[in-house]
Amino acid sequence: MPYQFDPVTHRYRNTETGRFVKYADVLEAVDAEINRLEVRLKGHARLLAQNKIDIAEFQIRMAQTLKESHLRNMAIGAGGVKRLTPTHYGKIGAQLKKQYRYLNKFGQDLAEGKLTKEQTIRRAGMYAKSARTSFFEGEFTSRGKYGFYAKRLLDPQAQHCSSCISFQRLQWTPIQNVTPPGVDCECGGRCRCRLIFKLFSI
Ligand SMILES: [Zn+2]
Ligand SMILES: [Zn+2]
Repeated sequence: MPYQFDPVTHRYRNTETGRFVKYADVLEAVDAEINRLEVRLKGHARLLAQNKIDIAEFQIRMAQTLKESHLRNMAIGAGGVKRLTPTHYGKIGAQLKKQYRYLNKFGQDLAEGKLTKEQTIRRAGMYAKSARTSFFEGEFTSRGKYGFYAKRLLDPQAQHCSSCISFQRLQWTPIQNVTPPGVDCECGGRCRCRLIFKLFSI
């Protein structure tokens, strides 16, 4: 793809047109990745429901697919795979650890026969939204190095969990002190809290 990333402005540039890529378009690429991820995760659950794989294999495939997608989204947020640092990988690790804990419980519920096929497929798909958080963590980690400030604003169209309301930042705030959407949040970032960034506090 003809894209180049500039870490100082934290923007992608289309090298064919010379134009910056709009932030909304970057978010759209992340959402497309989430949608593909959801399809893949539900596919694993369908194979399990058809008895083509067992619970252990299902969990392995879920974990692997989640890991790949978190990595891709983190890379979009950081400006490419080669810009990922140990800090980025640490954040992915923490995210995945949380998801793997849920996956463990999922496996237990399956083994105890607590879930119908439809519930299994729906629950598998719910893991997809977690990868959106890795995009934001990638972005926040990278922008943090350049001293960006951010505001975090509530989307007036969306329902918000109480965490989102407490994470709102109406004033320019050093990015290290802003919580990325989906982190420590009941809604998992589905609310579409809006972010704006700038390089200096004034
Ligand atoms: Zn929330
Ligand atoms: Zn929110």
